[in-house]
Amino acid sequence: MITEEKITIIVLHAECGRCGHKWDLKRGVVPKTCPVCHSPYWNKERVHAPHVIASKALRETIEAQREAAAFVRAKIEAGLAEARRRAEAREAEAAAKVDAARAQMRNQ
Ligand SMILES: [Zn+2]
Repeated sequence: MITEEKITIIVLHAECGRCGHKWDLKRGVVPKTCPVCHSPYWNKERVHAPHVIASKALRETIEAQREAAAFVRAKIEAGLAEARRRAEAREAEAAAKVDAARAQMRNQ
């Protein structure tokens, strides 16, 4: 006699969040550690300690302040260059007027 039985096989795939090792879980048992790196946190999201988060935030703040300072410095330098250019133009204009006045006095 031949009988038929349908069976469903579910294979669970696991991946270590620490070393990246991938393997199939036998009998659906969730292992306590990764078989390769033996980390007990293979199944846990990596979280940073508060001091690591704080120092990252501090680094980002310092970087943002440096960028802001560089921006302000560039604006100030551009403004100074523009003021210098205008002053030189005014001096050249005044010198030209003096030269013209002297030339006129010589001709009289
Ligand atoms: Zn691992």
